[in-house]
Amino acid sequence: MSESQTKLSTALIHHPYQPPAGFGAVPPGVHKASTVFFPNVAALRARDWRSKFGYTYGLHGTPTTFTLEERLATLEGGTHCALAPSGLAAIAMVNVALLERGDELLLPDNVYGPSKEMARTLLASWGIRHRLYDPMDVPAFAAMIGERTKLVWLEAPGSVTMEFPDLRGLVRAARAKGVLAALDNTWGAGIAFSAFDLGDGLAVDFSMHALTKFPSGGGDVLMGSVVTREVALHEKLLLAHMRLGIGVAANDAEFVLRSLPTIELRYRAHDRAARQVARWLQAQPPVRQVLHPALPGAPGHEHWASHCRDAAGLFSILLDPALQPAQIDAFVDALRLFKIGYSWGGPVSLAVPYDLRAMRGDAAGASGHLVRFSIGLEAPEDLIADIEQAMQQLR
Ligand SMILES: *Cc1c(COP(=O)(O)O)cnc(C)c1O
Repeated sequence: MSESQTKLSTALIHHPYQPPAGFGAVPPGVHKASTVFFPNVAALRARDWRSKFGYTYGLHGTPTTFTLEERLATLEGGTHCALAPSGLAAIAMVNVALLERGDELLLPDNVYGPSKEMARTLLASWGIRHRLYDPMDVPAFAAMIGERTKLVWLEAPGSVTMEFPDLRGLVRAARAKGVLAALDNTWGAGIAFSAFDLGDGLAVDFSMHALTKFPSGGGDVLMGSVVTREVALHEKLLLAHMRLGIGVAANDAEFVLRSLPTIELRYRAHDRAARQVARWLQAQPPVRQVLHPALPGAPGHEHWASHCRDAAGLFSILLDPALQPAQIDAFVDALRLFKIGYSWGGPVSLAVPYDLRAMRGDAAGASGHLVRFSIGLEAPEDLIADIEQAMQQLR
């Protein structure tokens, strides 16, 4: 390389131009960094990676991720937020932050499946025990909390089977035994109910949220968050975050920041449409039960009604057990607007058949073939017509 080329590179890299300060626009700026510059060695030596009053390294925060964290803390009614690169990574962050060899963890039997898998494999191999509880039986849950129980996970409603538990009762029981309560709040999304104000002065200790769902709203981002109201708990999370190295990408944070202003509008639109489709399904002959917590008669409906007004766009149906499994698959395959796929909270409606027996120890007395629907933002009449034509397969 010639001397002049080297000089050119230096001039381009250390260019003196600074744009004027004071730029204002709708989106917050997107700052990307691994390296963050320190003004001098003293500042580098005095660095505090936990502080939100400065920057040390991209992993520990940028103006973009700090902005998103503050907005999410507000959404959930908490004060501190830590981001993770997926909802499942956020669950791992809580577990790693709190649990040590010899500790015990309680999970609801209807918990998000991969959370069970994490407990069964990784946590077990680290000497951390777990037991499954029936989320609809508060006294049995209270009796299960023992000497070694350190953390309980809650989910409202449970993934796939959609039972809404007595959250206040569960949190009260955990509190009475001095055990920390972490809620998977992906369904409630900070909108259906307030995890930090459940009534009767009760609050969870951690609210974990798969931002992949409603906060993203586009089916295009994986991210998770954990919100707390206590500095000491937040600092434990940050230690786990730092030790695991689970940062989020600036462009992913940008997507969530762009979608967040419309989350309330979208959540209510999904909710309205889902209830319309769910009510229609209740009257269809092959449908034995519609598992939607906002519908009277659904499991935990009374608890939903005492905690929430809103509901997400998610529900399951139990189809006649006399139908053949191949007919259920043919029904789901025949759907045209509904796509087959996991996740929810995006514009496209989704359907997934689940095998209840493989998922649950007790299957909560539910019988029949289960299909879960996530209602997107299409016109509900079109979704109903789609299900109606696909139901030909169930004759
Ligand atoms: C999707 C989901 C998660 C995990 O989120 P990912 O970002 O997909 O890892 C956790 N809990 C619930 C209830 C979910 O629906």
